[in-house]
Amino acid sequence: MADMASPKAFAYAPAPESRAVVDIAPSYGLFIDGEFTEATGGKVFKTISPSTEEVLSEVAQGSAEDVDRAVKAARKAFVKWSALPGAERAKYLFRIARIIQERSRELAVLETLDNGKPIKETRDADLPLVAAHFFYYAGWADKLDHAGYGANPRPLGVAGQVIPWNFPLLMLAWKIAPALATGNTVVLKPAETTPLSALFFADICRQAGLPKGVVNIVTGDGSTGAALVAHEDVNKVAFTGSTAVGKAIARTVAGTDKKLTLELGGKGANIVFDDAPIDQAVEGIVQGIFFNQGQVCCAGSRLLVQESIQDELMDALKRRLSTLRLGDPLDKNTDIGAINSAEQLARITELADSGEAEGAERWAPACELPSSGFWFAPTLFTGVTQAHRIAREEIFGPVLSVLTFRTPGEAVAKANNSQYGLSAGIWTEKGSRMLAVASKLRAGVVWANTFNKFDPTSPFGGFKESGFGREGGRHGLEAYLDV
Ligand code: NAD
Repeated sequence: MADMASPKAFAYAPAPESRAVVDIAPSYGLFIDGEFTEATGGKVFKTISPSTEEVLSEVAQGSAEDVDRAVKAARKAFVKWSALPGAERAKYLFRIARIIQERSRELAVLETLDNGKPIKETRDADLPLVAAHFFYYAGWADKLDHAGYGANPRPLGVAGQVIPWNFPLLMLAWKIAPALATGNTVVLKPAETTPLSALFFADICRQAGLPKGVVNIVTGDGSTGAALVAHEDVNKVAFTGSTAVGKAIARTVAGTDKKLTLELGGKGANIVFDDAPIDQAVEGIVQGIFFNQGQVCCAGSRLLVQESIQDELMDALKRRLSTLRLGDPLDKNTDIGAINSAEQLARITELADSGEAEGAERWAPACELPSSGFWFAPTLFTGVTQAHRIAREEIFGPVLSVLTFRTPGEAVAKANNSQYGLSAGIWTEKGSRMLAVASKLRAGVVWANTFNKFDPTSPFGGFKESGFGREGGRHGLEAYLDV
């Protein structure tokens, strides 16, 4: 493990999690109508481990014809699934939630291998949240009459769902749990770099005895996703991913009667006032931008710091960054894992280089990167202006842009000066300031004296180019009901 800690820091012995708990098959087909089947045309692609570039498995590349088979299976299953009493649907969801808990160590190791994120995160954040999401929506399935959408609200039909690679199983849970609870059936396409946990989830559906065709998983690249959202028998499209692809999907869906929700990119402002507890704020800043290597749509990627405390805060932040440990994601002491793909690494590198070229000052702790795999050292930029690309564009990597402000009004104006509006953070001792500032921020979620806290009961979604619709909470039901 590359150790960024100063020589004085406590040295950790390696503490690798065992890979033996997960059994990855050499190849996987598509999961359609309760069975694994080959793709028509037999095309496959490889999924690799981003920390080593080792090939983990070969996965089927779904074609438009495969998407059609999956949608037909979901349509057939919809008749019985939507007619089940909510309490019966709930039993399946509770069963799925419990199996996820039982298999959580296996799934955490699998997700870490396929995604590159530290086991500490998959074990302590992704997997508990996945199970919590299924438990939460299982609880709603027999209470839909009381959700505020009138008596006996109806499901939409077949949901076509496309998800990204940064939280593969968690994004699946955000999509599938509310869809099933409300009586819809689904066809889900995972991202091409992280298809494995969705395929393991297919196995969990079988283990739970879920009726055939209620959940279908079609792996593939963007063309498979495009075929799914364009399919004429899909009633609802749910997408999480980049703003560019979200716009393309909105164009495809325009003029049809499909219901659409889009969860897109972000450029969250994390605002630190001069009365904030510095040490606590430093932890929140680190959590905000270095959690999951910054590959988080709601990351606090713009740090807005009150000018009077900039030096003190930067010193404390740099000291803290020097203690982060980057390396083997399966090691239980690792803080920073691998970047998900060579393409993502190239995007981060290009944007970070633009920061330097445009005159911002770059800083990273002394850090040795592993020789294979995709890695980027935690980096911060000071002297950033609002015109810089690194202040405007989503980097989706472990790169923090630091800007300053003098008054609360200036902080709000700078925070809102973005095409995005997904998240924000406020650090201050004053409750009145928290509320006053939060009410002026155009962001779907605003955290106060914390960051990146998730809960299935809380709605999540964006303003502006961060998308529309809400996932999570009672609000998350609406996207899957004919209301
Ligand atoms: P991406 O948009 O390239 O891909 C996302 C998914 O869409 C993948 O499954 C991909 O195969 C599929 N896809 C690609 N082209 C498509 C098309 N034309 N039609 C249909 N599907 C298509 O995004 P990415 O690089 O995989 O993910 C990173 C982006 O996702 C970031 O911008 C991030 O902010 C965003 N994101 C948002 C949230 C949120 O909740 N708002 C959560 C996670 C990620």
